[in-house]
Amino acid sequence: MGRALIIGCGGVGSVAAHKCCQNSDVFDEIMIASRTKSKCDALKQKLDGGRTKVYTAQVDADKVDELIPLIESFKPDVVLNLALPYQDLTIMDACLATRTNYLDTANYEPPDTAKFEYKWQWAYRDKYKEAGITALLGSGFDPGVTGVFSAYAQKHLFDEIHEIDILDCNAGDHGYPFATNFNPEINIREVTANGRYWENGEWVETKPMEVKRVYDFPEVGERDMYLLYHEELESLSKNIRGLRRIRFFMTFGESYLTHLRCLQNVGMTSIEPIMFEGRPIVPLQFLKAVLPDPASLGPRTRGKTNIGCIFKGVKDGKERSYYIYNVCDHQECYREVGAQAVSYTTGVPAMIGAMMLITKKWDKAGVYNIEEFDPDPFMEELNKWGLPWKIIENPKLVD
Ligand code: NDP
Repeated sequence: MGRALIIGCGGVGSVAAHKCCQNSDVFDEIMIASRTKSKCDALKQKLDGGRTKVYTAQVDADKVDELIPLIESFKPDVVLNLALPYQDLTIMDACLATRTNYLDTANYEPPDTAKFEYKWQWAYRDKYKEAGITALLGSGFDPGVTGVFSAYAQKHLFDEIHEIDILDCNAGDHGYPFATNFNPEINIREVTANGRYWENGEWVETKPMEVKRVYDFPEVGERDMYLLYHEELESLSKNIRGLRRIRFFMTFGESYLTHLRCLQNVGMTSIEPIMFEGRPIVPLQFLKAVLPDPASLGPRTRGKTNIGCIFKGVKDGKERSYYIYNVCDHQECYREVGAQAVSYTTGVPAMIGAMMLITKKWDKAGVYNIEEFDPDPFMEELNKWGLPWKIIENPKLVD
């Protein structure tokens, strides 16, 4: 039926490629292109033999003039940007030049300022509309499925949603004293930033890890969680009607936080270049190089993730609350696609987002966040492709 170009062959790209190959009714051909071609070739070897034809290529996605000929030669229906947030704009430019649909799982972040916002990507709205192509922003889990859950709650469960708490619990244990379960640079930049949530039309700022709550997660148990700023708060606060407050919490263990505090205190998490033996290095990039590769955590990680949203609002004049969540088991993911649950919970929605565009179940030109589309077909596919969801009415709320 269609063709997908996957850019980035890390944890998430690899899961998405596996899932496209499982879904060969929709994906006739995929191309995996990344900075290091040998990784793409190794992945192709694992995928070959099914009905989906797999190609590989080398590309530096920072360079629009490398991306355009690649897209022109393969002619994909959609480009899945599963490289890093730094490449979002160059890949969007190349998609625009070749009139190709675009999808990603993280919003643009300039490499030199730890600041991620949608404004750079939203600025492409008119150009994408005029070109008759779609950019689907944030088709991972969070952002991604959390936006689909919100759109679903808005469509089916409420007349007005007043409060959303997004809870991201990773109860996996990889046995290392300190490692990040996705790209360390992105992960550490995210958790060392100030916290922020949205209330009554305004952003409220907190110190990093200042707001702590304990929550008893279904199928996981009690965990400490901390308020963070997360990118979907920006789009959901605009796209969910009647919203009064939206917050995001992520769980962290004591060991992770103690290590992080220590690394921060000695300056290892800084993105300011320093001179080392006559050449500039960025401490956080150096730290990334000495930490375990997230892709290597797969076989070691045991336990589950539970990610979802608690909604409070009104339906037919009555107060209601619901919790929609997915539980994913690290070892089951590893057995299926050779990756742990954090990559799995991002790669599966990336494949489903691409499927929505190829099948034209989602078909409108412009730049959109995921909650701006009809959630129903996506919710259905989540159940089929390994991320089944549950709904609890009247869950325990977060104070
Ligand atoms: P990895 O670091 O494992 O993989 C990134 C891949 O992109 C690597 O293969 C890397 O190449 C490649 N790459 C980096 N720069 C370039 C470039 N200039 N040109 C071509 N390829 C490049 O990251 P993950 O797979 O964990 O994450 C991928 C994306 O998913 C990130 O943007 C991350 O923020 C996002 N994410 C989103 C989540 C969500 O729920 N929405 C959750 C988790 C992650 P090389 O192999 O050579 O290093």
